[in-house]
Formats: sequence, C-alpha cells, structure tokens
Amino acid sequence: MTSAVTPRTSTNCTAHLVNTVDDPGGPQHHDHLGTADDIGAWAEAVGALAPERARRLAANAEEAADLVRRAQDLRTAVAGFFGAAADGTDLAAPWRALRPVVAEAVAHAELVGEPGATTHDWSHLPAADALLLAAAGAAGRLAVAPGLARIKRCGACPWVFLDRSKNGSRRWCDMGDCGTARKMERYTARRAARRRAARAAG
Ligand SMILES: [Zn+2]
Repeated sequence: MTSAVTPRTSTNCTAHLVNTVDDPGGPQHHDHLGTADDIGAWAEAVGALAPERARRLAANAEEAADLVRRAQDLRTAVAGFFGAAADGTDLAAPWRALRPVVAEAVAHAELVGEPGATTHDWSHLPAADALLLAAAGAAGRLAVAPGLARIKRCGACPWVFLDRSKNGSRRWCDMGDCGTARKMERYTARRAARRRAARAAG
C-alpha cells in the first residue's frame, strides 16, 4: 500500500477510488479525499481529469465541502460493493447502496463515439460532477463485467485491486510495496526460526 496518488496502470479507476485511504485507523492514516485540493491532486494523478480542470474543482469553501462529502459518500458506496465482491460476500445489499449512484451517472451521461465504439461521457459537466459521475459510471460498468470476478483484496493491506494477470494469481495490490513487505516478513520469520533451531541444537 503506497500513496493512492501514485497512478497505477494495472488497476482501473474504481479500484483507484476505493484505495484512497492509507493505513485505515493506523498511525500513517491519510485520506486522499480529505479536502478539495486533495481530490484535485488525486483526480489528476489517476488521470481522471486534465490538470487545468482538476485544479478548479471548487470555487469556494461551500463547494469544496460539498465536493468532499460527495466524494466520500461515493467511495463508501463503491468500497462497500467491491469490497463485498473481493471478499466473496453477498452483493445484493451493497448493490442497492451503489445503484442510485450509478443511475445518477447514467442519467447525466452523453453518448460519444461511433456505433461499435460508443461510450458514456461526462466531460460537458462542471469538473466536480464530471469526476464523480465518471467514477460512478465506471463502477456501474465493472459491476456487470467479467472483471468483477477478478476484484481481489490485497494479501497484506485492506486495498482492493483488479487482477489482470493471465492466470488470476496476483495476490498483492502492489508487488513493489505490499508483496515485497510480505516477502520480507516471511524471510525474517524463517531466519528467526532457523536461529531458534540452531540455539536449541547447540
Ligand atoms: Zn496491499
């Protein structure tokens, strides 16, 4: 689990949204959606908004507070659904919590592209709406895509990720971070066990 503002090409923007709290409840706790500026930095880092739009998400304190509340509510609904998918628990209740958010996204989407390559688009909206509705729309698409079976929870931290490996064997949100940390833990434990064994034998 590294900083959520590190763009990761191996996960889609739904997992990016879920993984915006570092070290939940721990000493390194940090919410990447804690202020309007945080949300702008996050949106820019994950490529959800162009830099000039990401820096103009809120015009005043009231809009900023509204943006933070909406972003965190969206994260709660998305994390509830995809957390359940990762953990293999029942999806009915978390879907009912996510459904109004997805419905709102579709209700405001334009359709762009030629038949065969059409997609929903929210770029005509103010930046804050464009960001939140696009994230909700992506969650709605993933909820009915084969990829839902590939949503997993990291073996070493609370983050979820979309496993795009060929054989579905990925276990860590980030091999360079959690995977390495867990390998180090195992190595340290083996070494300690060898030393205990050597002491007992000697
Ligand atoms: Zn992890």
